[in-house]
Amino acid sequence: MSADGRFAPSPTGTLHVGNLRTALVAWLFARSQDARYLVRMEDLDTGRVRERFYDEQLHDLAAIGLDWDGPVVRQSERIALYESALEVLRSRGLIYECWCTRAEIREAASAPHGDLPEGAYPGTCRELTARERAEREAGARRPALRVRADAARVAFEDRLAGHQEGVVDDFVVRRNDGAFAYNLAVVVDDGAQGIGEVVRGADLLDSTPRQLWLCDRLGIVAPRHAHVALVLGPDGARLAKRHGAVTLAERAAQGQSADDVRDELAASLGIGARGEHLTPAELVERFSATALRQAA
Ligand SMILES: [Zn+2]
Repeated sequence: MSADGRFAPSPTGTLHVGNLRTALVAWLFARSQDARYLVRMEDLDTGRVRERFYDEQLHDLAAIGLDWDGPVVRQSERIALYESALEVLRSRGLIYECWCTRAEIREAASAPHGDLPEGAYPGTCRELTARERAEREAGARRPALRVRADAARVAFEDRLAGHQEGVVDDFVVRRNDGAFAYNLAVVVDDGAQGIGEVVRGADLLDSTPRQLWLCDRLGIVAPRHAHVALVLGPDGARLAKRHGAVTLAERAAQGQSADDVRDELAASLGIGARGEHLTPAELVERFSATALRQAA
């Protein structure tokens, strides 16, 4: 297994310092192991993607001193890969159509369903009668596609968050508007790009069992994972616009350079002291995943 890593932002807004911190950690993991670092734009949610953010995000990554290997890929150009993965799942009898609305799922999911976590899809459309199916097919609503996961239990060792276990529900792999879901695309792309180490924000920790389950069904070697705690605002909440200057441009307006921001991020990772100016190469030399885990 390679130690190749990646940063995979969605071009739906300006990166904030929390995103940049995650990008830096992923870069440090890869570069400290002499591995490749790729950038992939996760732009399948076409309603929210804006063209200007592709360049702006790359510009901000470069500004804090990160470099990457090869061309930046866009998920929107890789639909054929997701189609063929979907066909593999379908040929294995693992796909079914779901006509449920969000409100219907919320209502159905509030009742207990064996092992499934709260809020998980309870499997309403999994075993429809021929008549129920015909009724739904006759309606105007297009179905989403879900997997049959049979409430599989998945455990893994996260390099930062430690031992993790989860139950996999029948999650969506293609939305009812036709867009491929994050869980499918990320697994297919990481597999196709040879990613050996997924370093990303802790908000994605809960979705990891689903992705590992998919890897297994698609014959993809699962990468290792390291989920980085998200930067918190002074009020303890996840960093957001209301916390003031959170982007490089906003920091620049306050007189802080991109190098200053990198210093701040490095200090938040326990590398170097505040006020100590380290180059990206020096950060790589000082980086230790073990130390980061202990600091987290
Ligand atoms: Zn359903």
